[in-house]
Amino acid sequence: MAQLRGWVAAWVLGMMAVPVAVAQQGGRSPKTPELDPQIVAAVKEVSAARVKATIEKLVSFYNRSTLSAADAASIAKGRGIGAAREWIRSEFERYSKDCGGCLKVEMQSFTVNPPARRIPHSSEIVNVIATLEGTDPANAGRIYIVSGHYDSRNSDNDNVTDPAPGANDDGSGTAVSLECARVLSKHKFPATVVFMAVAGEEQGLYGSSHYAEAAKMAKVDIEAVLNNDIVGGNRTPGDKLQQPQWVRVFSEGVPVAATPEQIKLIRATGMEDDSPSRQLARYIREVAQQYVPGFEPKLVARPDRYLRGGDHLSFNEQRFSAVRLTEYREDYNHQHQTPRIEKGVEYGDLPKFVDFAYVANVARVNAATLAALALAPAPPANVRLVTKNLENDSTLTWSASPGSLATKYEVLWRPTTDSDWPPQNVEAVGNVTQATLKRSKDNVVFAVRAVGAKGHRSVAVVPLPER
Ligand SMILES: [Zn+2]
Repeated sequence: MAQLRGWVAAWVLGMMAVPVAVAQQGGRSPKTPELDPQIVAAVKEVSAARVKATIEKLVSFYNRSTLSAADAASIAKGRGIGAAREWIRSEFERYSKDCGGCLKVEMQSFTVNPPARRIPHSSEIVNVIATLEGTDPANAGRIYIVSGHYDSRNSDNDNVTDPAPGANDDGSGTAVSLECARVLSKHKFPATVVFMAVAGEEQGLYGSSHYAEAAKMAKVDIEAVLNNDIVGGNRTPGDKLQQPQWVRVFSEGVPVAATPEQIKLIRATGMEDDSPSRQLARYIREVAQQYVPGFEPKLVARPDRYLRGGDHLSFNEQRFSAVRLTEYREDYNHQHQTPRIEKGVEYGDLPKFVDFAYVANVARVNAATLAALALAPAPPANVRLVTKNLENDSTLTWSASPGSLATKYEVLWRPTTDSDWPPQNVEAVGNVTQATLKRSKDNVVFAVRAVGAKGHRSVAVVPLPER
């Protein structure tokens, strides 16, 4: 297995030697699950050349503003957001043809009329969605989403005549969604995976908000959303501060949608660092360490970049777990800028500033995470920490994962000041729904996760007190 990991590392990073993988193994617990050949194959299939072709194609539509042309003549000419979405749909349909029609491809359309923020005229907003339905009836209702926004903008929100290439923001995230669809559609998963390209982001998260609100109304079980926005690994000539081996993962601490009662409980139990979105971020890092060694998710413990936002927040607002992936260091000369040269500085979100190998690594992290989540049993529900009596032992209870995927459960714990679950702090407790640990709830944070027959693990779930 060590050799296989080394080989995967060498392949992923295109290196001759494997010191990174060896170094990473040193810190790993002996309980680390075996690599799943299906996930290894999907990760291996991700192609920087395909990412490059996708981003260049998206840029060729000239201006993908949500306000840009979507009439038949413009689509025929390959100009504007209408042409862009038709092309994205055709790509999803092409992947589906290659897997015997395994993807359900849909256009979710709605109209926004003024007065609306940054929408000066009546505009149709369309999300392009491809669904890989889960194969297990007891688990197909669980949905894992990867999303990027395909709309772009230049220096002026209302400008639809000058170029708005949007290679990085967010051609890169759209390319991640498409590449995940291409490589994962060759596999089958018990749970459902949704690949999405949304619009209206630049005007105020319109596309993602519409999707998330509709999903909430329909009681859709969205278990996780990976929002990729600006994952191009910007490389401005001369910039020595970019970190091409890191991608930031932003996640909310106290959930934005928590009720006053829930916030009171979070404060009382010291769970400010334990939202479901934060557990998802930790899960992404763990999966990346296994399947994309040498390329590291750096968790940032805030909802987004400082006082900024993105499509994952639309899902957080509706109580879904959602995180944002973004390159380590952004270059604001290459976002939301009309391409031009001023005083020797080149502005514009152009393909030449995108590191396609970097985007491919981000796509690998996404593909491995989606596959790991969709292969794993559902996380245990109704996880409770029993507090009826004052005692130094800690008893946890939970409801069994639906269906027959779970073969055992694991209880995790960490000191309250640690930011992640230490790999050695795990106790396998069998296929049960209750466990008592000789460890005081006063001093640690507990969580429970479900484990499948082949070692696939669910996201960890922290308990609520049972009084
Ligand atoms: Zn963006």
